[in-house]
Amino acid sequence: MKYILLQLTIFITSISVNAQTLNPFYQSVVAQVKFDSVQQKLQKFQDFGIKTVGSPAHNNAFDWLKSYYKNYGYTTIEQQSVNVSGNIGYNLIVTKIGKKYPDEFIIIDGHYDTLNGPGANDNGSGTVTLLEIARLIANIETDYSIKFIHFTGEERGLIGSQEYVNKIAVPNNLKIKAVLNIDEVGGVKNKANTTIVCEQDESNPISNNAASSELTATMANILPLYTSLKTEISNAYSSDYMPFQAVGYPITGLFEKNETPYAHTINDVIDNLDLNYLFEVVKGSLATLLHFSEAKQQLNTVDIKNETLKLYPNPVKDMVYFSEPITNTTIEIINQNGQIVFSEYLSTPTSQINLKQLQKGLYHVILKSNTIQNQYKIIKK
Ligand SMILES: [Zn+2]
Repeated sequence: MKYILLQLTIFITSISVNAQTLNPFYQSVVAQVKFDSVQQKLQKFQDFGIKTVGSPAHNNAFDWLKSYYKNYGYTTIEQQSVNVSGNIGYNLIVTKIGKKYPDEFIIIDGHYDTLNGPGANDNGSGTVTLLEIARLIANIETDYSIKFIHFTGEERGLIGSQEYVNKIAVPNNLKIKAVLNIDEVGGVKNKANTTIVCEQDESNPISNNAASSELTATMANILPLYTSLKTEISNAYSSDYMPFQAVGYPITGLFEKNETPYAHTINDVIDNLDLNYLFEVVKGSLATLLHFSEAKQQLNTVDIKNETLKLYPNPVKDMVYFSEPITNTTIEIINQNGQIVFSEYLSTPTSQINLKQLQKGLYHVILKSNTIQNQYKIIKK
C-alpha cells in the first residue's frame, strides 16, 4: 500500500501576544540564584573598605574578583591598567565565548571603585550581580559571547569605562550587541522597593537610540516574568554605559527606583539597603543576560537531533513547511521576549503550519518528541 501523505494544516488561532509566559529553561537557571550567596559576596565587598583607586582596598577587591572568575572556570581573564589622576586602577575583563557568534559581544558591567565609604550599594550591588550571574552561567552555552567587565575609576568621571572604549573597544572595532550596565540596585532600607528603573539612551548621537530603546523595552518586559519587580523606563545618564553610547554602541542599564541617600558616604553599608530587592534584581539581570546572549538549554538529555528535518521558507510569510511530516511532536513558538506565543501537540502527521497570525519578527521554533528536540530560528515577514 502506498503511503499517502496526510497534509494537515494547523491554523494558529490561539496566539495571545500579551501572554506573560516565561522561558522554562531560563526560569530554571534563575531559580538557582541564592540569597545567601548574594549576601555573602556583598559582605565581602563591604569588608574590603573604601575602594578608592590606588588604595590597598581597591587592589584587594580586584584580586578577589579575579580569583572568583578563575574558581568558576573562566579562562579569558584580562586586566587593563587605568591612570586615575596619578593613581593606577584596573578594569577586570572576563570573556565567555559564544557558540554561534563568537565575535559578537553582550557586555554586562558595573564599577567596583567606591568613594568615601565601602559602597555596598554604589556599587557593591552591581558588582555582586555580575558575580552571581557568572556563577550560574559559567557552564551554559550561549550563541553570543559575553564580557563581564568590572570597571575602576567610575567615581572619578567614568575613567575606566572611557579608557576601555578608547583603547580596546574602538581600536579593535569590537562588535557589541548590547551593553548592560548595573549601578546602584540595592534599594533603600524601610522603603517599599518594588520597582526597578530600566534605562535607555536618550543622548546624542541619536543613531543608536532606537536600538537602546528596543533592548530596554525587552528588558522591561523580561524582568516581571522572572521577578516580583515592576519596571519603569527612564533615561540613561552618568554611569559607565555613557562612553559606549557616545561612540554609537547600543546600551541599556538598571538603576534603583528609590535612590539611596547614602551613596559616597561612610553609611553606604548593607544595613542601609534592601537585600530582598537586590536578590530580585540579580534574578532579573540574569534572565535578561540569558535572553540577550541567547542561552541554550543543554541538549544532552535529549541528544537525538533530527538533522534532516528542515523548516522552509525562511523568512516566512504565511505557510511554513516541514521537509518531512512530523507526528507525536509538540511545537512551541517563542518570541524574542522569551514568551511562548504558540504551543500545540501534533498528534497526526503534519507538514505545514500557518503563521499568518504572528506579528513580524524573529521567533524560535522548538519541536519536541520522545526522540527529537530540534530548534529553529525563523523570521516572520
Ligand atoms: Zn555608581
